[in-house]
Amino acid sequence: MSRFWSDHVAGLTPYTPGEQPKIERLLKLNTNEHPYGPSPRALEAIRRGANDALRLYPDNESTALREAVAGFYGVKPAQVMPGNGSDEVLAHVFNALFRHAGRPLLMPDITYSFYKTYCKLFDIPVRLIPLADDFSIRPDDYLNHDEPPAGIIFANPNAPTGIALGLDDIECIARGNPDIAMVVDEAYVDFGADSAIALLDRCPNIVVIHTLSKSRALAGMRVGYSVASVEITEGILRVKDSFNSYPLDRLAIAAAVAAIEDREYFHDSLKKVTDAREALTQQLESMGFEVLPSRTNFVFARHPEFDAATLARGLREQGILVRHFAAPRIDQFLRITVGTPEDCDRLCNALSEQILKTD
Ligand code: PMP
Repeated sequence: MSRFWSDHVAGLTPYTPGEQPKIERLLKLNTNEHPYGPSPRALEAIRRGANDALRLYPDNESTALREAVAGFYGVKPAQVMPGNGSDEVLAHVFNALFRHAGRPLLMPDITYSFYKTYCKLFDIPVRLIPLADDFSIRPDDYLNHDEPPAGIIFANPNAPTGIALGLDDIECIARGNPDIAMVVDEAYVDFGADSAIALLDRCPNIVVIHTLSKSRALAGMRVGYSVASVEITEGILRVKDSFNSYPLDRLAIAAAVAAIEDREYFHDSLKKVTDAREALTQQLESMGFEVLPSRTNFVFARHPEFDAATLARGLREQGILVRHFAAPRIDQFLRITVGTPEDCDRLCNALSEQILKTD
């Protein structure tokens, strides 16, 4: 607390991301990074871009990246707004679409916890909608409101549950709320769900958020973007440009474009991760874990007999980081990033040891 802080600043609770360890030997299965490196073409683009041109400001419209995203998804570059990681894109979206509305933003009670952090930062009231007993989102709960909301946001697949909603359900929610923006955060969509970008023509109120941190293995470069109607995108850009007209650096743009264009590497590396996810799910189930059906690069699992916080602490002592959330309804789950098959074996061996020890 400082006398220079406003009451608003004093009341903020900063978002705490998963631990980023300083010790390299730790096996990091706690923040859903990709276990393999980025496309070699992306690395080559970074090397090529590391030259005297770095003295110049980057293209403030990130034109090459917008064109690459537009080409990949069959939309117009004017529908794409890039940012420094999807967390920054989300900040601009919250600022442009939900702040100052004076009405609540609807979101599932269990979803990416950053949304609540931004609501606090931007003074946006929140209305939480409980997930169903099986941890899925119930579309009906987002229709017919007593009081009109400012908008809707959820992650699809949801985080940290990993469960995905189908496009029919997403369309049903969007059509049921035609006058408010509905943000679908698709950070993990490439690992097995369908993108709502396919619905944009029919549902102009949808705003899709993507990141290159997960399926493109570029978390260290901080690149994300939104895809929405031109009308909505122009509004978000107005806020973004008032804040920072150079969101992405030259190397990030070059790496992102190359990663998006390297379709073969993308599909091959996704397959390796999704195959490892299925094998990990089976291994965990054979140890007695209940694993929610994941469409992501992580699994969300609980054991009926062993306390999740204790297991997470035990794993850490064995050099493995996983994520535990001390939150209602999910505090008996572990969120485990899918690593290489070797990483998954190391995790399962460590978990068996924990279980045997506590048995
Ligand atoms: N959305 C979700 C659902 C996430 O899990 C994450 C990563 N923690 C992000 C957005 C932000 O990703 P980034 O800022 O790395 O693009």
